[in-house]
Amino acid sequence: MAQVKIPTIKLNNGADMPVLGYGTWLGISEKFDFDVSDAPKMVEALSYAIDIGYRHIDTAHLYRMEPEVGQIINQKIKQGVVKREELFVTTKVWHHFHREADVEVSVRGSLRRLNLDYVDLILMHWPMSISQKGVDEKIDYLETWRGFESVLKKGLVKAIGVSNFNLEQMKRLLANCKVPPASNQIEINLNLGQPELVEYCQSKGVVVVAYSPFGTMVPSRAAPNSPEPKLNNPTMVAIAKKYNKTVTQVTLRYLYQRGIVSIPKTITKSRVLENASIFDFELDQGDVATIAKFDNGYRTVRPIFWQDYLNYPFDKVPEKAEIPKSLMVWKNGINLDID
Ligand code: NDP
Repeated sequence: MAQVKIPTIKLNNGADMPVLGYGTWLGISEKFDFDVSDAPKMVEALSYAIDIGYRHIDTAHLYRMEPEVGQIINQKIKQGVVKREELFVTTKVWHHFHREADVEVSVRGSLRRLNLDYVDLILMHWPMSISQKGVDEKIDYLETWRGFESVLKKGLVKAIGVSNFNLEQMKRLLANCKVPPASNQIEINLNLGQPELVEYCQSKGVVVVAYSPFGTMVPSRAAPNSPEPKLNNPTMVAIAKKYNKTVTQVTLRYLYQRGIVSIPKTITKSRVLENASIFDFELDQGDVATIAKFDNGYRTVRPIFWQDYLNYPFDKVPEKAEIPKSLMVWKNGINLDID
């Protein structure tokens, strides 16, 4: 079986995070229904990923996949494929759990579903606090952060971090915390480079993790009028050809050369291998400059239904939308045991 060797980056707690991880968000349909039909394929792909050398897994309470992720991890440990301490597991606290004391409830729930004693990193999924009924709870994320510091102290997690925090929110958090965040997980891809936020985080020792690293380049994320590059973009195809790589590999390599960790999701085994085979070539400065020109600030993930809630981190647009039910309440998940 093929094997990949994925480098690591140091977090501010001294731990090593592999610079490429496996993302486990199955996605929601255009109608915002949560579709679990691909869950068995993801289980197989994740199992294969660990077999070939992936050591970093990104999940979340929201994704309804914690039981499956935990089953695979525990199975691989039992089979002797990997030791727990060699794996880096991230999960996230959802909007319903932003009161200081509720953070521990959320983390303990994740550990139970994952069947693990600890996770390597827990993230505040978003800076807003919203009840299951869609009420704006207006809880300051600094209060929530105190809950994060507490679960760290209790040893339930090895590191704490945030996700979807903008520059201003990062600055405020760093100025008002006892333990600084180890990581900020944000959307980064060729259309959304976020140079200011990335440079700020990196200058403060906060590791930047890119979600949706392919943006709208891949057909599943194609949106009307979304910008280039797509997979067949001639500029990207020419660069890929030069290095004998694919456009997606060039994309992930480009992010890696910016010092950014990526967590692509795929349920396709060949892509699991492809996405991690990016550590044997280097893009030259000219190609880096060409690729950088695709950055036009376009967001793939723009949850307009949250934009009137306190601490929504992105620019607002004139449209309005209702919060999809699948992002508010979830019981009876894939295995009917998600709460
Ligand atoms: P990605 O950019 O990872 O894109 C996923 C899509 O790309 C899938 O349709 C997949 O297809 C396809 N794909 C993967 N690899 C290749 C390849 N080599 N060639 C062609 N197509 C490919 O988007 P995601 O939004 O899933 O983001 C990745 C992860 O980031 C999530 O799974 C989740 O863990 C995290 N995330 C975090 C968020 C947050 O708020 N913190 C928000 C969004 C994501 P297929 O599966 O069919 O192979």
